[in-house]
Amino acid sequence: MSTTEERWERIEALGFDYAAQEWMLVERCNLCGASAFTVLTHRDRYGFPATASACDRCGLVFLDPVMTATSYSRFYNGTYRPLVSAYHGRLIDARTIQGEQREYAADRGDLLARYLDGGGYRTMLDIGGSTGIVASALAERFGLKATVIDPAPLEAAEAQALGIETIEGLVEESDLGQRRFDVVIICQTVDHLLDVAGTLRRVRELLTDRGILFIDIVDFRAAYLRNWSVEEAVKIDHPYYFTESTMIAYLRRSGFEVLRTDYAPDHLHVSYVARPGAAAPDALPPPGDVRDLLREIRFVQNAPRP
Ligand SMILES: [Zn+2]
Repeated sequence: MSTTEERWERIEALGFDYAAQEWMLVERCNLCGASAFTVLTHRDRYGFPATASACDRCGLVFLDPVMTATSYSRFYNGTYRPLVSAYHGRLIDARTIQGEQREYAADRGDLLARYLDGGGYRTMLDIGGSTGIVASALAERFGLKATVIDPAPLEAAEAQALGIETIEGLVEESDLGQRRFDVVIICQTVDHLLDVAGTLRRVRELLTDRGILFIDIVDFRAAYLRNWSVEEAVKIDHPYYFTESTMIAYLRRSGFEVLRTDYAPDHLHVSYVARPGAAAPDALPPPGDVRDLLREIRFVQNAPRP
């Protein structure tokens, strides 16, 4: 049996019925509001019949239809980590990911140091903060009091065990009252959100005037180019697939000014350090980017792997 067949068997053994979930159709692009899309793919890397589309106007890529918040919350409560483990053929859970998260925190901390050292910052909110390892490492390094918001109960429990304030849920739905934070981090999380525009708007409100936002994306182009497969770059855990130009447009629309862009050592993630700036509510990727993206996708889908 080939490794690929073994992988399909492991995934099938989880018994996750993707087609039986609750669905929403995407009526409007979450970034620019347009409603004309191009369907790119019909299955994801796990073999599920997930359809990914690109917005014809701005080039944002997203699952359409997409599971509802209820279905995603069930998915994160028991399916997500076992599915990723089955895909990779090794155990990945709230405990095993901690070594990787510590390394990540050290690395991203180096990027943030020039903005946070000596800035007099006191509080940090980690959106999708998982086990709290990253929040706890950054909080210690920069003398911050950390709060973690995560929808997965098991991972929030790990964070709680570290003594970090944890809120189980989604940032758009959590009642934070009048609280504001000096630093907001959204680490390897934005691709998992259901409403990116709404979250970034909320983050802008939650951030103090001289606050700092850290956010990183899986660069969709890097993901399909490295495997020479668009399907392999699509996975049901990611409702969204960003390129550098769609993420920048999101940040500008939500009122952030990018201070630094960083290509991660893994060549897959791209990180942004940003601060509150003037909102450019009509910001779009540069003209030509959408056409170039769709052409490149067609090339990867049809030209022999180099
Ligand atoms: Zn759009």
